[in-house]
Parts: sequence; C-alpha cells; structure tokens
Amino acid sequence: MRRVLILGGTAEARALAAGLVAEGVHVITSLAGRVANPRLPEGEVRQGGFGGPDGLAAWLRAERADALVDATHPFAARMTASAAEAAARTGVPLLALRRPGWQEGPGDVWERVPSLHEAAALLTAPMRVFLTTGRRSLPVFAPVRGVWFLARSVDPPEPPIPDNVQVLLDRGPYTVEGERALIRRHRLDVLVTKDSGGTMTAAKLTAARELGLRVIMIDRPPPPPGVPVVCTVEEALSWTLASPWSQG
Ligand code: NAP
Repeated sequence: MRRVLILGGTAEARALAAGLVAEGVHVITSLAGRVANPRLPEGEVRQGGFGGPDGLAAWLRAERADALVDATHPFAARMTASAAEAAARTGVPLLALRRPGWQEGPGDVWERVPSLHEAAALLTAPMRVFLTTGRRSLPVFAPVRGVWFLARSVDPPEPPIPDNVQVLLDRGPYTVEGERALIRRHRLDVLVTKDSGGTMTAAKLTAARELGLRVIMIDRPPPPPGVPVVCTVEEALSWTLASPWSQG
C-alpha cells in the first residue's frame, strides 16, 4: 500500500487526507501538537515535532514513506524548510500545497508589511485593534503603548495577559454578520492579520471593508525554493496518486 505523509494543521490537509484515504492510500498526517483539541483528519495521525530535518529524514526512512505533502499553514516556515531539506536528503518526492493568498477587491486599501514587528510599528495610540495573528504573536503587539487589542485565537495565549488585551477564544469559520457585530461591539478601528488566505477566516476582511477599518496585512514568507507548489487539494491529490512508489 502506498504510504504518504501529510504535514497538516490546515483544512486543506484534512481534505487531502480524506481524498487519499478514499483512494486506498495509507495516509499519516502529522500535527505539531500545539492545539489542545485539534480537528483530526481521516487516516493515521501522529503529533509533535520530528526534531528538525534530521528527525524528519529518519522518520521518512523508517516509515518507508513514498511521498511527502507539506500542507502546513503558509506561515509555518520552519516546518516547510525542514520538509524541503529532509526530502532532498532522502529522495522522497515532496509537494507543497498552499492555498492562494487574499487579494484586495474594490474598496480595499490594505497596508502590506513583511513581518509581525513591522505591523506593530504601524500602530499608534489610541487605536483599538482586532488582532488575528495567533496567540504566540501577542508579545510583539501588547507592548505598544496606548493601543487596545481584541486578540482572537484558538487556544489561550501564555499568561499573564496584559491589561490592554482582551482574549477571544474561537476557531471559525466566521460569518460577515458575526465579524461586523464583533467589530461594532468592541469599537475596533484597525485589523491586523496574516495573509492566511482561504474562506474560513476571510469574513473579517469583508466586514473591515464595510465598516472602514484600516487593514494591516502581514505578507507570507516565500515558498520553499525548488519545491513544486500547488494551490488546490485536487491538484495535490493528482500529484500524490501519480508520484512513483519510492520505497514501497
Ligand atoms: P513552524 O514555526 O514552521 O514550526 C515549528 C516547529 O514545530 C517545526 O520545526 C516542527 O518541529 C514543529 N511542527 C510544525 N508543524 C508541524 C507538523 N505539521 N507536524 C509535526 N511537527 C510540526 O510552525 P507553526 O507556525 O508553529 O505552526 C505549527 C502548526 O500549526 C503547523 O502544522 C501549521 O500547519 C499549523 N498552523 C499554523 C498557523 C500559523 O499561523 N503559523 C496557523 C494555523 C495552523 P521539529 O523541527 O521538531 O520537527
């Protein structure tokens, strides 16, 4: 049976796992193990880091993987780099599955920045910021004086939570009506977000446009050099089914 490792943590990874299981492929999805109660894909699941590229290469050999699909979040740059290195070292074919980034539509004026720190540098008192960049980014933003944050994340950030931060635990998908109500309730005037792409969390951008919020968009890290990249689950499914059985 063909054995495929999917580096997961996204809706696309779960959809790919389901598609491959339906085709009779032995799928193992790897999760970082950071979310307390993750949505689990079909097939086998393993959790926790591999121990860098060396650990992943050893895992690919020991598990006789035929192919590797990096379907991690577009901002999971360390895992992506590790996958490229381990694949090059072992000869296991690697594909990156990346959903497209968000595009500005009519009426949108987004300020694009390359990093969390550059986003934080654009904030000035007395803003009220809708922060959706993940709980681990809070230490970058919370020290900005005179700025109040509604920080939405799946799991709680590490305590202590500063006085200028209100945490909202939620995981989407979100609706435009819900996002509009949230923005109004908290009188938010700026949205800071990563360019995650996809539909599950895009409603905040529509609500921000309608209500005239300033939008600060953090650009994605570049894709791994030399690794083929596809945008859709269907393309990843075709690639995986067509890839040679490297060790089977
Ligand atoms: P990261 O910074 O690229 O990864 C840090 C380390 O965590 C990696 O070096 C690896 O440890 C381990 N790791 C990451 N993803 C893993 C996976 N799928 N399976 C096994 N180990 C993994 O990644 P991150 O930004 O912390 O994201 C962690 C996970 O959350 C990813 O799987 C990603 O798909 C998901 N996620 C991330 C975001 C985001 O905004 N970054 C948003 C939604 C979901 P070792 O070096 O020990 O192998």
